[in-house]
Amino acid sequence: MAKKTKIHEIVKYPDPVLAKRGEPITEFDDDLKTLVEEMFESMYAAHGIGLAAPQIGVSKRLTVIDVNFKKDPADKLVLINPEIVERQGQQYEEEGCLSLPDIRDKVKRAAKVKVRAQNADGEWFEIEGEELLSRAFQHEIDHLDGVLFIDRLSRLKKDLTVRKIKKLIKNGEW
Ligand SMILES: [Zn+2]
Repeated sequence: MAKKTKIHEIVKYPDPVLAKRGEPITEFDDDLKTLVEEMFESMYAAHGIGLAAPQIGVSKRLTVIDVNFKKDPADKLVLINPEIVERQGQQYEEEGCLSLPDIRDKVKRAAKVKVRAQNADGEWFEIEGEELLSRAFQHEIDHLDGVLFIDRLSRLKKDLTVRKIKKLIKNGEW
């Protein structure tokens, strides 16, 4: 019988784990593979297309992405210890985040990036992405550095967003 995959609760802003730099992953064992599976299931359960480990309270450099949301298992990407090695052009599109429910804003990002990362077996690979996939790479890798998309807004816009969230928290609506 298949074991039921654990669904993790998504950590919301302003939990301090979201502002911390994740630790590099050094053990590519069965526990890591279980964590990767749990992250995909937790991401799908929350209707997301990307999830970084700090968002489930695990301060490690691991993220999962599926910009086509379950359409094709081949689109499921696991990035461990990822780094952006090339950036090209610019895009300015709206983003959201599972840790910031119902908050959306336009963020300046590179149009195209190349990422170097390890898979769940510890093998290094490179992958390129443009448009939505490029944004997902940059957004998720930011999470591993303790950076949220609202940190990339203008000072004024960030202040307004934080004020809005504080009000929601105060009203018990966050
Ligand atoms: Zn996010």
